[in-house]
Amino acid sequence: MIERISNKAELRAAVAAARKEGKRVGFVPTMGALHEGHLSLVRAACARTDLVVASIFVNPTQFSPGEDFEAYPRPIEADLSALSAEGVEVAFTPTPATMYAPDTQVTVDPGPLAARWEGALRAGHFAGVATVVAKLFSIVRPDLAFFGEKDYQQLKIIERLVLDLDLGVGIVACPTVRERDGLALSSRNAYLSAQERQTAIAVPEALEAAARAVAWGELDVPAIEAAMRDAFQVRVAASDVAVSLDYAAVIDPATLEPLERVAGTARAIVAAHVGTTHLIDNCPLAPPAA
Ligand code: AMP
Repeated sequence: MIERISNKAELRAAVAAARKEGKRVGFVPTMGALHEGHLSLVRAACARTDLVVASIFVNPTQFSPGEDFEAYPRPIEADLSALSAEGVEVAFTPTPATMYAPDTQVTVDPGPLAARWEGALRAGHFAGVATVVAKLFSIVRPDLAFFGEKDYQQLKIIERLVLDLDLGVGIVACPTVRERDGLALSSRNAYLSAQERQTAIAVPEALEAAARAVAWGELDVPAIEAAMRDAFQVRVAASDVAVSLDYAAVIDPATLEPLERVAGTARAIVAAHVGTTHLIDNCPLAPPAA
C-alpha cells in the first residue's frame, strides 16, 4: 500500500524510519500526470533502492506567466494507483503553500547551463526547477534521485546543482521512453489534438535526421542542423496545424554550448510549438568509428 504524505515533517519522519532500518532511499520527483516515462524512472528506483519516494508537485515557480500552470493535468488518484502498482511506498504530495512560505526570499541561480535553449525561451524556468529540486532533496534526503534524459538541459543543471551545492545525492539518468512512432512521452502530449499529435512526430523526425546525417559521416554542424530543419518542415508541410520550430541544434553534451563540428559525442536538441503545446526532445550523436 502506498502512503500519501503531504506534510514535510511527516515525510522526513517516514524517510528517517526507513533509514534507521538501513534502507537506501530512492527519489523520483515528478509533476504528476504520470506516464510510462515517469514509471520507467520509478522502476529504476525500485531496482536500485529499498524505499522509493515519488513526489507529485506541479511547481508554480517553474511556470512563466501565461504558461499552463493552471491547466496542467492533475489526475492525482490515477497517479497514486500507478505508483502503488509499481511498488512505490511513499508519495509526497505537498501543496504550494507547504513548499513556499509567503515571504520566501532565497532561490537557486542555476548558472550558465540555464542560459540557452529552454532557459532562453522560458524566463526563470530553471531557477524554479533548481530551487524546488534543492528543496525536495533537502526534505527527502535521498541516496539516489532519478531523472529523465528527455529533459536533457534540466538533467545537466541538476547534476551541476548537486556538485556545486554539495548536496550529496547520486543522480541517475534514465533513457527517454517513446511512443511507437518515436514521439517522446510527455504529460503535455495530452493537450494535442489528433491532427497535432500526427504533426508532433516532426520533433523526433528532426532528431532522426541528425542521427542519420552523423551516421553517414556528416560532421559539419550547420549541415546537420539544416537536415534537422528540413526533416521537420517536410512533416509540418503535410499538415494544417500551426507549428513553429523554436530551435534545432547540435550541442556539447556537457556544456550545452553550440558546436561547429561533431568531434566526439554530441547531443541533438529540438523544441517546437505544435499548436500551443511546447514539446522538447533530444538524442545522443556519435561520429562513426574511424
Ligand atoms: P515531469 O513530471 O515532466 O516534471 O517529469 C518528471 C521526470 O520524468 C523528469 O525527470 C523527466 O525528465 C522524466 N520524464 C518525462 N518524460 C519522460 C520520458 N518520456 N522518458 C523518460 N523520462 C521522462
